[in-house]
Amino acid sequence: MKVLITAGPTYEPIDPVRFIGNRSSGKMGINLANSFSLFSVPDVKIVLVLGPTALRHTVHDNIEVISVETAQQMYAMCMLHNDADIIIGCAAVADYRVANYSEEKIKKSGNITLELEKNVDIMYEMGRLKRPGQILVGFALETTNLIEYAKSKIAKKNLDLIVANYSSAMNSDNSTITIIDRNDLANPKEYKESTKLVNAISIKNYINNIYDMMVSSKETALSAIRECKVDIVSMDAEKIIAKLPNNKCMIMVYFNTGTVLEKLISGIDRELNMPIITEGGKSYSYDTPDALVNLIKALQK
Ligand code: C5P
Repeated sequence: MKVLITAGPTYEPIDPVRFIGNRSSGKMGINLANSFSLFSVPDVKIVLVLGPTALRHTVHDNIEVISVETAQQMYAMCMLHNDADIIIGCAAVADYRVANYSEEKIKKSGNITLELEKNVDIMYEMGRLKRPGQILVGFALETTNLIEYAKSKIAKKNLDLIVANYSSAMNSDNSTITIIDRNDLANPKEYKESTKLVNAISIKNYINNIYDMMVSSKETALSAIRECKVDIVSMDAEKIIAKLPNNKCMIMVYFNTGTVLEKLISGIDRELNMPIITEGGKSYSYDTPDALVNLIKALQK
């Protein structure tokens, strides 16, 4: 299992000595990375893309730390590691960078104007490139309407979870967090004020549960399919495609949602030696391994 975490602020340079930054300490993201390293399976690989922080020394040794300064650098490093199974965007990425960066230190004279241009939204890009089975977690920090704004970001950035906290959490040892799950939007789960380490462990446990459920739902589907002795054509992190022995249909088993799509075979393409699938196809759902076995048996008849 590979986990990618962004943490800390980003600094957007104005000239060689000045920058625009924010008050993020990096504490929450570092605690999250440390919780994964302390309480996860032994072969977990953790990559922490870390903005400027005084807390670099608190990161556990077995975490790969990539230190960056700007949002663009953070984005480049995330793209390099976006094969991770779990991506957590904890960084307070600067939304804007200085467009008219000065190579020389700006000398004091009259008023000056800084032109700002929009930075890339890293989690939005990760969401656009998201592959089946990948888990994406964002953070939302607001001063007002926290839950409402946080919910809207789940859809906008294609996230599985968002952790909402008020801006008082910034640069503090404690926070009150609310975890909002894409599949259970109506029931945000609030974790009352605790240290960021305690909250990090709660978030890590929540993410691990989703991951374990995905892995176990695939195992369940696979064992049911094997019991029915059908040919597995392919599988990925989202679905298993199998051909039934009657040669009349294929099934696509989406194990995360418990859905089975039946696709009828109208013939064989002799050149490609591949079944020709007809348009449409019925959809079924299952909730237990036995239900899946019974469904496959019924479809074989
Ligand atoms: O849209 P907003 O900045 O409130 O969204 C916060 C979430 O998006 C956080 O997970 C943050 O790390 C991520 N983000 C990002 N790149 C940006 C801005 C925010 O990855 N440029």
